[in-house]
Amino acid sequence: MKNVAVFGSTGSIGSQTLSVCSMHRNEFGIYALIFGSNADAGIKQILEYDPKIVGVFDNRAAAAVREAFPDKEIISGTAVWDIAQMDGIDIVVNGVSGFNGTFPLIKALRSGKTVALANKESVVCAGRLVAEALNCGGGKILPVDSEQSAIFQCLTAGRKEEVKRIILTASGGAFRETPLERLKDVTPEMAMKHPNWNMGRKITIDSATMFNKGLEIMEAAFLFDMDASSISVLIHPQSVVHSMVEFCDNSVIAQLGVPDMRLAIQYALTYPDRIPSPAAPLDLASFNGLSFFEPDTDRFPAIPMAYRALEKGGSLPIAYNSGNEVAVDRFIKGELRFTDIADCVEHVMGMIEDIAINDIDALLYADSEARRLAKEFAVKR
Ligand code: NDP
Ligand code: MG
Repeated sequence: MKNVAVFGSTGSIGSQTLSVCSMHRNEFGIYALIFGSNADAGIKQILEYDPKIVGVFDNRAAAAVREAFPDKEIISGTAVWDIAQMDGIDIVVNGVSGFNGTFPLIKALRSGKTVALANKESVVCAGRLVAEALNCGGGKILPVDSEQSAIFQCLTAGRKEEVKRIILTASGGAFRETPLERLKDVTPEMAMKHPNWNMGRKITIDSATMFNKGLEIMEAAFLFDMDASSISVLIHPQSVVHSMVEFCDNSVIAQLGVPDMRLAIQYALTYPDRIPSPAAPLDLASFNGLSFFEPDTDRFPAIPMAYRALEKGGSLPIAYNSGNEVAVDRFIKGELRFTDIADCVEHVMGMIEDIAINDIDALLYADSEARRLAKEFAVKR
């Protein structure tokens, strides 16, 4: 039996993790549930899974949970990140959204834990610090993001020095074919509908702008120790081929499956074993062909911007990520148009101080600077 701590339990990744664990109750026990502010959803999960420890980031939500469960240990505020290093936990699932996912990741790795990592913002922003935590703590990262899980699986077909290229696939999001001049009129409601995947709000908008793919380019570079020139992106609207690896003999290995995150979540939880999963089998004959094409960088400036951030390093990946987090938030509030998101991030990348991210203080400083610059970004009409 593996004891699991689920960070971001009330979200899309968190709830799908719980659904995988429910299917295999003899394999997984829910040791800790950690979430942000959704007390109603959290209380339902606590009733169903009876975790030993509960972490609620938001203090008001924590008070509501304490009232519902006076005898339970409820941790709140930034102390929730410490749960990641507790004895008794075998695997930490990191399904927190955004930059905050960095803290449980570093704490878990420093204490030698295995992390099933969905949160990509952490390795994009804090790559060097995460690498240090891996080296000094002896922990391990198992990728959950479907593209990274696919690459992780494909890499077993050869040796590291035989890998020529990683090919990340991307659905192209909701506006792959929308005329360019109409993109500025895209509303948050329109951007929140993904053609193939059912995910949290921020990542769905990131899929429409392709900032999600930009983050994944940097995530793959970190996870698989690849440089920018060895990572490419292909649009694949059916989301069946989850990514590919090209080897030095030009052989390409792909991982396929229905678009269901429970597959990748379960593989990270059971690795290196495979067991039956709740995901449906893939019926390739039901597809009227699978298609692949190069991304249009005029439509998706987030892709060339990600390569620039990756090549330059320092504070640029943080400018890219945290600038985007604020821009998406402003877009949802109606302060920015859809096409302003990339302009806002471009502004932050152009203005941010160039510093090396050698410690947590530098990381926090660069993040707060990126957020300040993105909040200041004034739209030119
Ligand atoms: P959601 O918005 O659905 O869920 C986010 C979760 O994080 C919620 O449980 C939320 O709690 C919790 N959370 C947010 N802030 C805090 C905080 N400060 N402390 C504790 N918990 C917090 O996001 P997703 O599940 O879609 O995505 C999560 C991560 O996984 C992202 O990094 C995303 O890029 C990545 N990912 C997601 C995929 C998907 O299919 N959804 C696919 C691949 C990667 P609450 O709601 O209670 O406030
Ligand atoms: Mg992905």
